[in-house]
Amino acid sequence: MRNVFIAGNWKMHKTVDEAVSLASSLVSSLGEGAKKIMIAPPFTALASVYQVVKETNILLGAQNMASEEQGAHTGEVSVLMLADTGVSVVILGHSERRHIYGEDDESINRKVKLALKHNLEVILCVGETLAERDEGITRDVIERQVNKGLEGIPKDELERITIAYEPVWAIGTGKTATARDADEIHLYIRNLVSRLYSRSAADNLVIQYGGSVKAHNSGELMSMDNIDGLLVGGASLAADSFTQIVKYD
Ligand code: PEP
Repeated sequence: MRNVFIAGNWKMHKTVDEAVSLASSLVSSLGEGAKKIMIAPPFTALASVYQVVKETNILLGAQNMASEEQGAHTGEVSVLMLADTGVSVVILGHSERRHIYGEDDESINRKVKLALKHNLEVILCVGETLAERDEGITRDVIERQVNKGLEGIPKDELERITIAYEPVWAIGTGKTATARDADEIHLYIRNLVSRLYSRSAADNLVIQYGGSVKAHNSGELMSMDNIDGLLVGGASLAADSFTQIVKYD
C-alpha cells in the first residue's frame, strides 16, 4: 500500500484573514479524511493557520527556511521559529527558490539536515528547466539535485523526506507533464534512491508530482504507479479546487 501525500503551496498569497478563512474551509471539506494533507501558507499566516488546523489531519507546512539555525541573518526565518509555530513540514529547494533567489544544492542540503535535526518533515523539490529539458539533460539534473539534496542523510531519516518532482516548465504555466512522462521520471528517482539507500527505502519513498496540477488531471496523475502524491500551487488557493484534487478518487 503506497502512502498518499497531497500538499498545497500558497506561495506569496493570502493575508492572515484570507489564510484563516481558506484553512477553515479546508478543515470542513477535508479535515476528517484518511489522506495525508499539508498546506503551506506564507510565514505571516503560519501561527493563525496553526490554530485552525491543529488537531485535524491537515499538517502545517512552511515554504522555505534559513540554512542557519539562528543568528545575524536579517530577513530570514529559522527552523526553530517554524517548529515553535506549529510547522511540521517544510518545502525545500522549490524551483522559485533555486531560480529566482539563487539557492544552490549545498544550501538546500544544509536546510534539509537542519529541518530533520529539529524533527520537521521535508518536501525536497527537484526538476529541470525547459532549457535543460530541450538539451536532453533532464535525468542528469534530477540525479544531481537528488544526490546533493540527500547527501549525508542517513537511511533511517529518509522516511521523513518526500521528494517532489516539479518540471520547472510546468509550474504555473498550465502545461503539465503527461502522466506517463512524469511517471517515468518518478521511477528514475525511485531507482536513484534505491541505489543510494536500498530497494525497500525507495519503495517506501513518497514522490509527489507538481506542475499545473488541477482537479481535472489529479486522478490521472495519481493513477500512475510511481506518483504517490501531488504538490499543488495555484489550484491550492481555492477550497473547491484543492478539495477536488485531494478527493481525486
Ligand atoms: C508549485 O509551485 O509547486 C506548483 C506546482 O505550482 P502550480 O501548481 O501553480 O503549477
